[in-house]
Amino acid sequence: MAAHAGAEDLLIFVRDRELGIVLPAPGFQQTLPDAKAWRVFLESCIENSFQEGELPFPTSGTMKHVTGFAAEDGSAVVFLGDNHEIDRGVDISLLLPILAAAFEGERIATVAEGNTAVAKQAATQAKLLADSLDKARNELRHTLSEAHRANAAKDRFLAVLSHELRTPLNPVLMAASAMETDPNLPPEIRADISMIRRNVELEARLIDDLLDLTRIANGKVQLQRKIVNGHDLLDEAVAVVRGDPSVQQSKIEVEFGADQHHIDGDPARIQQVCWNLIRNAVKFTPLDGRILIRTRNSDAETFRIEVVDTGIGIAPEALPKIFNAFEQGDTDINRAFGGLGLGLAISHALVGLHGGTLRAESAGVGRGATFVFELPAVERSAIALETTTPPPAETDRRRILLVEDHATTAALMARLLRKRGHRVELAHNKTDAIALGLREEFDIVISDLGLPDGNGFEVMQALRSKSRVVGIALTGYGMEADVAQTMKAGFQFHLTKPVDAQKLYQAIEQIPAP
Ligand code: ADP
Repeated sequence: MAAHAGAEDLLIFVRDRELGIVLPAPGFQQTLPDAKAWRVFLESCIENSFQEGELPFPTSGTMKHVTGFAAEDGSAVVFLGDNHEIDRGVDISLLLPILAAAFEGERIATVAEGNTAVAKQAATQAKLLADSLDKARNELRHTLSEAHRANAAKDRFLAVLSHELRTPLNPVLMAASAMETDPNLPPEIRADISMIRRNVELEARLIDDLLDLTRIANGKVQLQRKIVNGHDLLDEAVAVVRGDPSVQQSKIEVEFGADQHHIDGDPARIQQVCWNLIRNAVKFTPLDGRILIRTRNSDAETFRIEVVDTGIGIAPEALPKIFNAFEQGDTDINRAFGGLGLGLAISHALVGLHGGTLRAESAGVGRGATFVFELPAVERSAIALETTTPPPAETDRRRILLVEDHATTAALMARLLRKRGHRVELAHNKTDAIALGLREEFDIVISDLGLPDGNGFEVMQALRSKSRVVGIALTGYGMEADVAQTMKAGFQFHLTKPVDAQKLYQAIEQIPAP
């Protein structure tokens, strides 16, 4: 959190209606060095609602950074120094019209009466007002800093909570995935296990959604953009939904009509949006209904995906609200379907981050729904550039060093990876991992971040100093700081626990064979 600045870090200007200019409000510094520069700055601030600049400070006269916010009536609040907080500026600027009106009232009364007693009284009142403003200002500061602190605590709490909720899901998910495909088990047991896996996955998804929402709300989602084929992404999303045994819809149709179908985006995030839309269509459409996923170019520059279903539809009054977090169309209907009402809020925000749009259409309850997702299409010349760079992924066997202190998780992961033909060595702590990693050659190190005698960052740093091993970090903390830190430490992938076996395989397959 930014350090708390002193009282002199703020100037308030109110508009004098009579003179038509902006003056320092009573109680604030009245004379400013280089008045002309200040006037230009304030004019621009009032014109644009917001302005930054380098100006001489009233106290020292030295040039420093200032930030100004203007209210609609032309009064302004200016923060001195580098540490300004947008929220605070906006909050204070909301108070400005009230202050300006109060000062105006005092002045007019004084002038009209021509009475020195009244003028004196007005001055006293102005002083009182300035004092109470000072108090309000401090309270506001305090409240805002408390709010920021509480917000940070909430973030941290969610991160820790998700970690605690997720970690135990990991071995369950891994074991279930392994048993589900084990031909030695009777089919009815495998069906039960598959049900267990699906429910655990659902739980993990809800935790992911909560985390995503806090990240989006804090503007901390970082897109890993590249140029991708939108049809490939959709194909994969459809394959995942079709491959889910709980999805019984036979009628998921695909019609790819877009000629320009490359987009510049974060493939994982775009897929997340597509999954959400397709899953919702499946969820809200009866078994005999129909789901159509089609693409076209709305114009030469726009790639458009439509997910059309013949399901329960959306009432006109619910339509504008379904993109709000925790908002669901019809509460009674939704109780039957479950869900938290986060998927569309997250999707909407993710699409916005990509510079695209997402909207819903429905002719009403019982009449199906259409979700329209549009993104800027990428020019062909740009595609050629990007697609020539990455080498094609190979699915050869890899030598993997798996560092995980949770014995059950480690054993299960090793088993799954070996089943896919990889050679896996296990280490349960930092010391063993480094010793093993330096003694033998590995292509990939998959490491938990929290280890009993250190952390995954140290393992990665030690191994990267000697070889070109590629790192995949595993962690229960899904928060952005972890992702940034793992990338800095030399990990190329970051997977959040419980690790989805498919995601792990995909990450491994993306690493080119040596
Ligand atoms: P959830 O599905 O978890 O409730 P979403 O944010 O994905 O949350 O969806 C919000 C609401 O939008 C849903 O509860 C539902 O009322 C409505 N909705 C979403 N997709 C459809 C659809 N294809 N048909 C009808 N209603 C839908």
